[in-house]
Amino acid sequence: SDKFGHIKLAPDDAILQTAIAFRNDSHTDKVNLGVGAYRTDEGKPLLFRAVKEAEKQILADPATNKEYLGIDGHLKFNKLAQELLLGESSSAVLEKRVASVQTISGTGSLRIGAEFLSMFFNPSCVLISRPTWGNHITIFERARIPVKYYPYWNPKTKGVDIEGMINALNDAPEKSIVLLHACAHNPTGVDPTPDQWERIADVMARKDLLPYFDSAYQGFATGSIERDAFAIRMFISRGFQCVISQSFAKNMGLYGERIGALHIVCRTSEIADKVLSQLKIVIRPMYSNPPMHGALIAAKVLEDPALKNIWLSELEQVSQRIIQMRRVLLEELVRIETPGDWTHITSQIGMFSFTGLSPAQCENMIKKWHCYMLTNGRISMAGINSRNYQHVARAIKDSLQ
Ligand code: PMP
Repeated sequence: SDKFGHIKLAPDDAILQTAIAFRNDSHTDKVNLGVGAYRTDEGKPLLFRAVKEAEKQILADPATNKEYLGIDGHLKFNKLAQELLLGESSSAVLEKRVASVQTISGTGSLRIGAEFLSMFFNPSCVLISRPTWGNHITIFERARIPVKYYPYWNPKTKGVDIEGMINALNDAPEKSIVLLHACAHNPTGVDPTPDQWERIADVMARKDLLPYFDSAYQGFATGSIERDAFAIRMFISRGFQCVISQSFAKNMGLYGERIGALHIVCRTSEIADKVLSQLKIVIRPMYSNPPMHGALIAAKVLEDPALKNIWLSELEQVSQRIIQMRRVLLEELVRIETPGDWTHITSQIGMFSFTGLSPAQCENMIKKWHCYMLTNGRISMAGINSRNYQHVARAIKDSLQ
């Protein structure tokens, strides 16, 4: 009998579909504004110099082998990743009350984190920002956690709908998880201000909600590791227990190496030990243990002061190029007298900008101007460079008509 004939063709992922459409377009002025990875001003992928050098040292080291890592991964990496995120002087780190495991980048971390919470926290639901990175929703659904939403984007101000968000948190059921983007919110590019973060923490403390931070862009948003970790560190210093998914895809350009971590901040080191033991039980039947190469690279970069300095300055350059492209695009939009206020292009941060373009206007961007983007209006600033910003500005202006 036919075992698989009943299976229907699944729709393509919207982001990957955009990438394919871009690749198949032979137009010379085509622009990829859908790309989720950094591009240089020449439009090329970037291999960080610090990463290349770390890799060279790893390969030259006679002690390097390809043995299995433990279920929780590379222990030195876990510790260094924890310190980068929380700060070396964090009370949670010093008191050893953070359970950390290496994960398959940020996505794998979210999946393990969601599964762990489903098994051990008995959540009533997870509250997710509307809009968010699409995978968030599916990841929590797969972990059998009901998904609810809090408003986040205010289309009028093109900023955070802080009142809507606070009200939704205030109405959250008991034992809710609240998923928060640590910095550089995807897809909107708008983050709460420090004062707004305090208000979010106030209501979450009062309601005893569990924060779950997704940290996919530390250092990539502002160029500063510390500033981009502000929200997480503030919550922990206020005494919150929390879950954090960390990715090194963007900030080390290690997309394909799939290197990340999951951290669970507990009240005591005894609790953290028990949490860690159960995280291993979650991981074991999924993939036994994580891959080694990315962990060796990230650990080397974080451990070696010279390499770390090179990395930090490269990270600064990367974030500065994106900030500069925001400025250049805004100036061009103003220069060609594009109708409306476009200052959100420079006030938004990180890789993405939520333009506010409607689906029909996005279609015009793609079909007429060969500017590939998501139809929710999200553009990747990494796709903009000194050769194409004028074309993009003209495309935006034309699409408004
Ligand atoms: N969270 C957010 C908000 C992201 O934008 C991404 C990458 N697009 C991720 C998590 C996970 O990425 P990765 O699995 O490549 O680390």
